Amino acid sequence: MIYPIVKFGNPVLEKPAEPVTVFDDELKKLVEDMFESMYEAHGVGLAAPQIGISKRLAVIDVTFQEDPDAKLVLANPEVLHTEGKHTQPEGCLSIPEFREPVTRPRKVTIRAQDVNGKWYEKTGEELLARAFLHETEHLHGKLYISHLSALKRDLMKRKIRKLMKAGEW
Ligand SMILES: [Zn+2]
Repeated sequence: MIYPIVKFGNPVLEKPAEPVTVFDDELKKLVEDMFESMYEAHGVGLAAPQIGISKRLAVIDVTFQEDPDAKLVLANPEVLHTEGKHTQPEGCLSIPEFREPVTRPRKVTIRAQDVNGKWYEKTGEELLARAFLHETEHLHGKLYISHLSALKRDLMKRKIRKLMKAGEW
């Protein structure tokens, strides 16, 4: 099932999500649906709040279906270690059409549970490191625009409000 993506302005995106505690068939189905919804939206990461489900759950595939081993499920993720700096334009499926350069650590190690509840650690660099941080922040109710200058963020919010008024958001 493909879920519609919740857009900026919906409060579910800005509140901390609830931990995943049950790793059952229902969760497996949700994870499958999240991958499907992410691919449909042409994204490389999707957090459950972005489909209106306030759970500490995210999926990532920075290869966009090229490498099945690159499909990652992050339940209850925590950032363990970060290193270096890397600046790259960043966007979010919940804030479509906008992209802004964001400086983040180049290398990031996370700890998370997979779809079966098994804990694992994984280190990613550049795009994967960025995805780890971006998706983990979603689960804290934090959006990437919080890393922009107040000026840039306000400009973006003004443009979004205009789109909302025009019924185009
Ligand atoms: Zn996002």
